[in-house]
Amino acid sequence: MRHCGEYRVSVAKDYLVFASAHFIMFAGHRCETLHGHNYRASVVVEGALDPESWYVFDFVTLKRIMRKLCDEIDHKVLLATENPHLQIAEQGDSVTVAYDGTPRYVFPKRDCALLPVPNTTVEMLAELLALRLRSRLEQMGARRLTAVEIEVEENFGQSAVYREKLS
Ligand SMILES: [Zn+2]
Repeated sequence: MRHCGEYRVSVAKDYLVFASAHFIMFAGHRCETLHGHNYRASVVVEGALDPESWYVFDFVTLKRIMRKLCDEIDHKVLLATENPHLQIAEQGDSVTVAYDGTPRYVFPKRDCALLPVPNTTVEMLAELLALRLRSRLEQMGARRLTAVEIEVEENFGQSAVYREKLS
């Protein structure tokens, strides 16, 4: 065999689940009520083969990284810190959320995940997970990888995919 094609490995959604609460801000300054999803994520990494092990990336390691990233936001209220209409403030053990200056929620801080995204859509969650995965991969020196792709599903058949090429 010549091994000159391209390889991609993936971990499917059934292994990567997080149950979280969120609300979305819509265009025209509308804000959803708080609700939850059993989110499911999947990951794809692409790249050249490891010359000694003949794999693109170790599944055990990939699952472990992704499971940790999902655990960080599992059983949390997901709050978008980069939305101009949301004012999120940490006060002692609490996080207060106001919408265009009107107080809306107070949550225990330990139950919140403050995420550097403009909205907690599945698109933004997929991009955030990809960013965090990429950072872990860089720390590990995984240099043969050429792309990462994350899919986040919030309901059956309703998901978004974010894909990024690695330089
Ligand atoms: Zn939702």
